[in-house]
This record gives sequence, C-alpha cells and structure tokens, in this order.
Amino acid sequence: MKTAVYPGSFDPVTFGHLDIIERAAKMFDVLNVTVMINQAKTPLFFTEERVNILREATAHLDNVIVDSYHGLLIDYCRENGIHIAIRGLRAITDFEYELQIAQTNRLLSKGELDTLFLTTDLKYSYLSSSTVREVASYGGDISECVPSFVVPLLYEKFRSTSV
Ligand code: ADP
Repeated sequence: MKTAVYPGSFDPVTFGHLDIIERAAKMFDVLNVTVMINQAKTPLFFTEERVNILREATAHLDNVIVDSYHGLLIDYCRENGIHIAIRGLRAITDFEYELQIAQTNRLLSKGELDTLFLTTDLKYSYLSSSTVREVASYGGDISECVPSFVVPLLYEKFRSTSV
C-alpha cells in the first residue's frame, strides 16, 4: 500500500487544496489529508471544524483519510509508516519556504521522508486560505474559492467573532 500525507492548515480548505487532493489521491493507494496544529498561527476554524469541512469536501474520494496532528510532520509520518509528503506550489514565492521545510524534514527524518510537489492548476494559482478569509471577513463573494457548503460557515464565523 502506497500512502502519502498532504499536511496543511486548511483554514479552510479551498478549491486549490481540493485540486491537489484529487490529483494526489490518484497517485497513491491512500492519501492522508492532515490538519497540522501550528502554534505559530491562530486559526479561524477550530481543528475539529477544519477536519469536518475536509471530510465533507472529500467525501467523494474513497481513498482519502482526514486526520489531525499536533506535532512534527516527521513524527506523524513515523507513527503512520508514511514516507512521502505532498505539497502544492502556486508561485515562485511558495518555493523558498517549501524548499526549506522539505529539506528540514529530509534531514530530521534521516532521509525517511521525501516531499513531492504538485504545481497548482493555473486557475487556482492566486488562491490562498488567507485571501479567502480576508474577502469573507468583508462579506465579499468567495463562491469561486471554496465549496458551496463552506461559504455560509465562513460568513457565520466572522459574524460570531465580530460581536
Ligand atoms: P495556505 O494557508 O498557504 O493556503 P496550507 O498550509 O493550508 O496553506 O496549505 C497546504 C499546502 O497547500 C501548501 O503546500 C500550500 O502551498 C498548498 N496550497 C495552498 N493553496 C493552494 C493552491 N491554490 N494551489 C495549490 N496548492 C496550494
């Protein structure tokens, strides 16, 4: 069984992430999409909410497992016998950061964890969770960015956090 992990914040999942998930799911027997709990970032959605959103958005993909993890990616991979991490690249600006993480993970895992990069579908190259959150916070149209069931969840989050 070839398994890979696609780690990220997914705060919330966008069509850009989903495109990467669908393509990676075709390449592996099992794809773990894992919400990594990052202490440096204050998320908009709780971990459980991000997991539930991802589960609903990937319900049509039989070989996708949605998970969450608090800790280092290399430890998650060691615990789950995973040797490949998937990451998406949107533009050259992603490259330096992604390269640094990939090389750190290779070093820390003593070569046990490799990172495979998939380039974004051009129509999603502008898309990031942070842009979606910002547009939604002003009530802007995000229907081209996230699955339709996520749109009201975003507006609701901003309504409840602004009172
Ligand atoms: P972000 O908060 O930057 O959107 P995440 O931590 O949730 O990112 O992203 C997980 C991975 O998905 C990263 O490798 C990121 O570069 C990638 N990614 C994010 N948005 C897209 C997109 N629109 N197209 C391709 N890859 C993407």
